[in-house]
Amino acid sequence: MERYTGSFTQQEPIPEAGIEAAIAVLRHGRLHRYNTAPDEIAETALLEEEFAAYLGARYCLAVASGGYAMATALRALTVRAAEPVLTNAFTLAPVPGAIAAVGARPVFVETTADLTIDLDHLAAMARSTGARLLMLSHMRGHLADMPRLMALCDDLGVTVIEDCAHTMGAAWGGIPSGRFGKVACFSMQTYKHMNAGEGGFITTDDADLAARAVLLSGSYMLYPRHRAAPPAEVYDYIRLDVPNISGRMDNLRAAILRPQIAMLDDRRSRWNALYRTIEAGLAATPGLRLIPRPVAETYVASSFQFTLPGWDDSRVRAFVARCGARGVELKWFGAPDPVAFTSRYDHWRYANPDPLPQTDRVLAGLIDMRLPLTFSPDDAALIARIIRAEALLVGQADAGALQGAAALMRLAD
Ligand SMILES: *Cc1c(COP(=O)(O)O)cnc(C)c1O
Repeated sequence: MERYTGSFTQQEPIPEAGIEAAIAVLRHGRLHRYNTAPDEIAETALLEEEFAAYLGARYCLAVASGGYAMATALRALTVRAAEPVLTNAFTLAPVPGAIAAVGARPVFVETTADLTIDLDHLAAMARSTGARLLMLSHMRGHLADMPRLMALCDDLGVTVIEDCAHTMGAAWGGIPSGRFGKVACFSMQTYKHMNAGEGGFITTDDADLAARAVLLSGSYMLYPRHRAAPPAEVYDYIRLDVPNISGRMDNLRAAILRPQIAMLDDRRSRWNALYRTIEAGLAATPGLRLIPRPVAETYVASSFQFTLPGWDDSRVRAFVARCGARGVELKWFGAPDPVAFTSRYDHWRYANPDPLPQTDRVLAGLIDMRLPLTFSPDDAALIARIIRAEALLVGQADAGALQGAAALMRLAD
């Protein structure tokens, strides 16, 4: 029986250019973004300028994390206490967490079978709650039909904040993810598309919003040192009204990140090659549904999802356990209790969520897998063979054979 022995959590090292630049920052010691020598431009300010150019955005602010970026975007949009903020029911915990952080109320929207936000339910929830903001999570890199979504939100008077934690480098119809909403947030945490350990970006073309975000992030009165930011006069009428909610990025992380911007497009093609290998290996597996990828979508497949429609819990559990025993680490979004990074809308009890039957059905059979770039194409092919074999075996086993761990492992005999 084939087994995979590699790691699902091992990312690539920091590129040498990033290591060199980081060492230079450590040697001079000016890690704080506003601690610059005369005529020096901080690594952080350069990073913002370079990422804004990559994305095609007018303004970019680097901050401490993706979650901080989202909360700051909400604050910059002057969200009020207890205000409803629409968001995907299928997302990760820091998304509703950012809404809760600003005292607002997450309102969850149903999920389609293709893992994107349900536009009909979005319209219904916008109308019934009167929400004026949507925190749109491009969860696991699946983009909704963005022109349709934007037209709908414009009609509803809903402002869109894009959560691009999984879509840095992605596009719809050739337009980069992050260029549709009024503001976009990115994460540079280790498991995302650029790795600084922790970090976030806020991008926008709106000068007032950008200035508010810079002040919120803790710029003191040093905001003229930013480069991908509005001119000083934009700050004049708000600079004493916006609190300093400290969450800056430092020059060490910026130095690590700057060389990674130019690598994003190459990383996308490598990720997508792994993705397509697995997709081909799982094609036409009875009982297993692949997620269709629209032609308009340019995705960055840093992870892989499929569903097991109609499988009951014990069968899914057996499948995940058996894949795990063969070295293939899968995550299941249907687990009744949160596990590691994986949790689900009804686990976020502080948000008092209403049941969402459509999302429940999708998540009950949803399997998720990381795709680190340290996988080789052969690894991807092997992983697909293991998943396919186990899906066939467990999918066709009779219910009695799935009871108990020992019985489970004997299935193959
Ligand atoms: C990681 C992540 C975030 C938050 O990013 P951090 O940098 O970890 O705070 C937000 N949204 C999604 C979908 C994420 O996966």
